[in-house]
Amino acid sequence: MTDTPDLTGKIALVTGASRGIGYFIARQMAAAGAHVVAVARTVGGLEELDDEIKAERARTGKGEATLVPLDLTDMAGIDRLGGAIHERWGRLDVLVANAGILGVIGPLAHIEAKVFEKVMAVNVTGTWRLIRSVDPLLRLSDAGRALVLSSGAAHSARAYWGPYAASKAAVEAMCRSWADETKNTALKVAIVNPGATRTAMRAQAMPGEDPATLPDPSEIAARIVPLAGAALAETGLIFDARAQVFQRYRMPA
Ligand code: NDP
Repeated sequence: MTDTPDLTGKIALVTGASRGIGYFIARQMAAAGAHVVAVARTVGGLEELDDEIKAERARTGKGEATLVPLDLTDMAGIDRLGGAIHERWGRLDVLVANAGILGVIGPLAHIEAKVFEKVMAVNVTGTWRLIRSVDPLLRLSDAGRALVLSSGAAHSARAYWGPYAASKAAVEAMCRSWADETKNTALKVAIVNPGATRTAMRAQAMPGEDPATLPDPSEIAARIVPLAGAALAETGLIFDARAQVFQRYRMPA
């Protein structure tokens, strides 16, 4: 899965589009012709994205954005977003559920309740609510695609990464159930592990690391965007963006 797909006329909802990996996925999907519905809390980041998409459109005639400043802990807001997409377009072609937070890296027994609850609220409940809101719209697309960002942490379950690891394991389990529920439809669900990437989240997790040793989020986005195209045949598997391969789940031995 390496070719940039033609997304002309596609409606793509991208969360966490104000910076990092989601920003570049949104930009690249717009450059491929999509109308991107860009979600995040930071209006400045969304406006910067819009400026880039408009500049690209002036050059190539491709891509458009609708900016949606929204906190993904606002469950009623997520429901309204689904309703607004339905009213305007009658369907959704691509969901990129990318927004996420790390919380705090530290021993489980030292994590404050409000930190744990926020990680679960944004990463798990927000993702579920978004799935609930747009599942009917994705089914109305002739080739619906859901790309949901996870992390190797869901499986490595390393010391001090507990809340984040648990949230990503939950996201993966949810997406596997969703993929199974939709396996006889045109919708494909891809669980995406971007691998370590030079973003604010990674710097928060690994402050001592030299960011120059990590790939730029634009490079990782370019490996993820092809999953939105018609060529995607798999559903319910993990896509390892670094290695560019799908990995299958298996029961613990
Ligand atoms: P960043 O911290 O750079 O960006 C996170 C994005 O999520 C921002 O656009 C932020 O926007 C948005 N976001 C956070 N909280 C909320 C909220 N409450 N409501 C709406 N939007 C929110 O993260 P990355 O780009 O690094 O990560 C993207 C995804 O990739 C995440 O799911 C992450 O877990 C995963 N990942 C990243 C890795 C890495 O090394 N970078 C490795 C493995 C997985 P705003 O603050 O404006 O709301």
